Amino acid sequence: MEQIIVVGGGAAGLMAAYSAAIHGAKVLILEKMPAVGRKILITGKGRCNITNICDITGFINNIPGNGSFLYSALNVFNNEDIIAFLGQYGVKTKIERGGRVFPETDKAKDVVQAFLSALKNLPVDIVVGQAVKKIDVRNGKVNGVITKDDCFHSAQQVIVATGGASYPGTGSTGDGYRLTAELGHTIIPIRPSLVPLEVGEEWIGLLQGLSLRNISAVLKADGKVLGHDFGELLFTHYGLSGPIILSLSRLVSEMLYHHPKPDLTVEINLKPALSDEILDKRIQRDFAKFSRKALKNSLGELLPNKLISIVIDLAFLEPEKPVNQISKQERTRLMDVIQHLTFSVTGVRPISEAIVTSGGVSVKEINPKSMESKIVPGLFLIGELIDVDGLTGGYNLQAAFSTGYVAGRYAALGELAREHKEF
Ligand SMILES: Cc1cc2nc3c(=O)[nH]c(=O)nc-3n(C[C@H](O)[C@H](O)[C@H](O)COP(=O)(O)OP(=O)(O)OC[C@H]3O[C@@H](n4cnc5c(N)ncnc54)[C@H](O)[C@@H]3O)c2cc1C
Repeated sequence: MEQIIVVGGGAAGLMAAYSAAIHGAKVLILEKMPAVGRKILITGKGRCNITNICDITGFINNIPGNGSFLYSALNVFNNEDIIAFLGQYGVKTKIERGGRVFPETDKAKDVVQAFLSALKNLPVDIVVGQAVKKIDVRNGKVNGVITKDDCFHSAQQVIVATGGASYPGTGSTGDGYRLTAELGHTIIPIRPSLVPLEVGEEWIGLLQGLSLRNISAVLKADGKVLGHDFGELLFTHYGLSGPIILSLSRLVSEMLYHHPKPDLTVEINLKPALSDEILDKRIQRDFAKFSRKALKNSLGELLPNKLISIVIDLAFLEPEKPVNQISKQERTRLMDVIQHLTFSVTGVRPISEAIVTSGGVSVKEINPKSMESKIVPGLFLIGELIDVDGLTGGYNLQAAFSTGYVAGRYAALGELAREHKEF
């Protein structure tokens, strides 16, 4: 039986190993950390948003980084397949807001355990604490790998699943970029994606820890709208985070990469469900209720406490002024700030704090039906290592599982895989 080597035991590598083994291969996983699946454990805040229940078009739309490259892989192994796979190994799943799929137990470790159970009875060896430092190529074909301690492992098929460069504490330190660039692959410059934003407003620290739901945010570059989102936002001591900011951050990273000093802003509407007219009526109602109170003490039903003095300052209003003396013009200024609370974006947090890495091995150099390199036969490239990145919602893990499954299957079956209808 020929041995296939999988470099990296993350979501993509574990799935590739499983797939290769069930399709008849003997597999060796070389993982540099003391255990496999470290990143899976921290996904979805420890709950693991495994996938999404949307259809293939939904996946492609939610994977702005080359989602269409995954079309074939998603056709072969999709969300129903990963749910069925996990079910087979005792992980029941549930669906939450936005079609997000989680283990019923809310425990990411159950997902890792399912993989370990699945691999236990298959011809798969897992060797941990073994970093691969080189992929050996002879006569233009893969020949094996060399580990950090100069051990050579022979293999005619090597699947590289080393992940991106985010959260390096989990083992994904970007090794795969060097390993594959050395073999002639093009690496699309890596950038942080799904990452918090830093803003210039000095008072941002006052809002630290405040989380807002049902608000809308518009990202602008030089006054032009780049993107927008609706949902939850979190203030941090340096800037903005939370789901809607993470989704917009990809555009910020890209902008900062191409234009060194764009004028980037995030405009927040704190009351997106209210029209101008209704918001005005709402403010007037509150002012009537608190008619003898100072402005600063009359907005508590409209805004969170931490925001009140900031909004008043930005609207150039006097906090001590009794609300029954506030003019229509002053009310309009207040409304304007509530609907357009604007932050100047100075940067993104470093890639080590990003949920995913954008960029990576160019998809133009990978066969989308097999994940095999078009440059080195026998080399397969999967998961976050490649230039594919999605939004939050389970899309990144599904990308890892789908590419992993396809690569494992193709590496095991070779040309025979083509005879199956999916290929
Ligand atoms: C905080 C956080 C939360 C997330 N939550 C979600 C979520 O809920 N849903 C979702 O879809 N996505 C989520 N993601 C993204 C998702 O986890 C990744 O996209 C996915 O894990 C990528 O899988 P991978 O197998 O390609 O890489 P990884 O999971 O990073 O695995 C790569 C493996 O390769 C090993 N390795 C690296 N270099 C070498 C080497 N030289 N030799 C041997 N081994 C090596 C690493 O140690 C690691 O085990 C989250 C990411 C983060 C950081």
